[in-house]
Amino acid sequence: MTTGKVFLVGAGPGDPKLITVKGMECLQKADVIAYDRLVNKELLAYAKPGAELIFCGKLPGKHALIQEQINRLLVEKAEQGLIVVRLKGGDPCVFGRVGEEAEELAISGIPFEIVPGITAGIAAPAYAGIPITHRDHASSFAIVTAHGREQKGEDHINWQALAQGIDTIAFYMGVGNLAHICTQLIRHGKKPSTPAALIEWGTTAEQRTVIGELSSLEQKAKECHISNPAIVLIGEVVQLREKISWFESVNLQQPIIL
Ligand code: SAH
Repeated sequence: MTTGKVFLVGAGPGDPKLITVKGMECLQKADVIAYDRLVNKELLAYAKPGAELIFCGKLPGKHALIQEQINRLLVEKAEQGLIVVRLKGGDPCVFGRVGEEAEELAISGIPFEIVPGITAGIAAPAYAGIPITHRDHASSFAIVTAHGREQKGEDHINWQALAQGIDTIAFYMGVGNLAHICTQLIRHGKKPSTPAALIEWGTTAEQRTVIGELSSLEQKAKECHISNPAIVLIGEVVQLREKISWFESVNLQQPIIL
């Protein structure tokens, strides 16, 4: 039997229309779709009839399938000659563990491709009317995970470099850690008045955006009960939202060409 193939596909950040054309083609051809929790389930409607749909979701702190099981699953299904899509939220290479899965596939001699997706740290701000770069405000951008490792004494973030060298910073998985993020950035030289935003469920109909300053962001998050998934965005570009917010007046269900 010929070996199948695995496609490690980015589903985009939430709005199902933000998957790539190539990603959609993979979905429609797949025999097996192994999908994560943050993937918009509407996308599964594009699977061909009879395709096997496997939830690999990870609730924070819980694991439906542990990573090694997912790796094995991909290998085994491909060895059966099947076309497998591993569907991940946003871009698979941004905090998506694609490296671990691709490594296992490479070791096992399974053909695979990576299909990039639109990552939440760029798309959620865009839908909130905040371009992550701007000629007048920001010429650098960093994507950072703020996953609470410092509580275990494992804070690997170079706060000084971030605070002093980067104009716009997008923190993923940062809501639970907001106090630490804001304190560290201010301690290492970011102005307490730096504009900051929280964007929850970005690019979906449930998107909420809260604007503040670095010094007040944690308080705002508490007041508005912001929870994950959310992007914490820090930088002068946040002030652009006032002029170019657009999403709140758009109906996502409508066709693009009106
Ligand atoms: N691979 C994904 C990121 C996975 S890590 C990507 O490229 O977007 C999960 C984190 O991504 C969440 O905790 C949150 O910080 C962020 N995230 C994912 N989807 C989001 C969304 N629709 N709105 C805001 N943040 C989101």
